[in-house]
Amino acid sequence: MTRPISARISLSALQHNLGTVRRYAPQSRIAAVIKANGYGHGTLRVAHALQQADAFALLNVEAAAQLRHAGFAHPIVMLEGMFTRDEVADYVAQHLIPVLHQPEQLEWLLQADLPRPFDVWVKLNTGMNRLGFPPAQLPQLLAQLQASANVNRITLMTHFANADIVGGADAQLCRFSSAVAGLDLQSSLANSAALIDLPDTRADWVRPGIMLYGASPFAERSAAALGLQPVMTLQSRIIATQMLQPGDSAGYGSLFTATAPTRIGTVACGYADGYPRHAPTGTPVLVDGARTRLLGRVSMDMLAVDLSQLPQAGVGSAVTLWGEGLPVDEVAQAAGTIGYELLCALAPRVPLLED
Ligand SMILES: *Cc1c(COP(=O)(O)O)cnc(C)c1O
Repeated sequence: MTRPISARISLSALQHNLGTVRRYAPQSRIAAVIKANGYGHGTLRVAHALQQADAFALLNVEAAAQLRHAGFAHPIVMLEGMFTRDEVADYVAQHLIPVLHQPEQLEWLLQADLPRPFDVWVKLNTGMNRLGFPPAQLPQLLAQLQASANVNRITLMTHFANADIVGGADAQLCRFSSAVAGLDLQSSLANSAALIDLPDTRADWVRPGIMLYGASPFAERSAAALGLQPVMTLQSRIIATQMLQPGDSAGYGSLFTATAPTRIGTVACGYADGYPRHAPTGTPVLVDGARTRLLGRVSMDMLAVDLSQLPQAGVGSAVTLWGEGLPVDEVAQAAGTIGYELLCALAPRVPLLED
């Protein structure tokens, strides 16, 4: 018998969530963001389920080559662009679209001897101060790009720092709009939070990530309320039970001490599976579909749950750590993080099952 942990990936939920993106932004084309191993769900698996997307967005040429090798002909936008001059050759070979955000990348592209011109996205830094050119440089950049035989279609983009907060994108949107005013170029602004809440950011292209995977980009709004279905369900089983008497403690650090007779279950899931070690006592867990709570410190391979209200539960009982019936966002909130981090941090040792 193999260790009972697995992550079930619902392909129909992925497709449902892509449909939800389309309902929010019916006029936009969708660049499905499948970086970070498809937010932990598997790059190729996600790409297959999201064939109807208009493009994919990735970070590394290895993942892009994987897609091309599997037969995907979609445009692939590379969100950090080339990391070295040498990578220009990979972009040519794989037909990739770089996001240009640094003068060095511009130089590499303009100086290359290319067999055909590239489509490029040009990123403007409108206030995130992570990647992108200052908007004031745009006229000069465009002049350079448009004069080059290496450049075909130019799309302008930016990325919001606070699209998940009411009014948080206003200043950046304003800077972007004034920089691109009067230009006849396509643009792309919105991540999940922006495309859900801010109609003005639903430009030619939207770039949803987290919502495709059925988690919420907002701290205070559930994924279900946004019309999203959970894609990943992390599930395991109870492999042992213990009976604690008052004064007995459970796990490393003895962080939980029983004050009454308490039956607990040991679950085959720990931080080496990607479950957050910082999840405290009280973090919600489902046992046989019923809500209970985590107890004590999460170990590398195991964690403990409270079975005192679940007399039927025992060895072999099904445990859901997050997913169907238990939003990943709730678990993340209890652990002081966000759903994004939990999904992306799923460990390679957890088998992914398609469903
Ligand atoms: C990751 C990323 C996205 C997707 O963001 P979500 O919040 O997951 O929707 C969009 N654009 C850029 C530039 C990104 O890096």
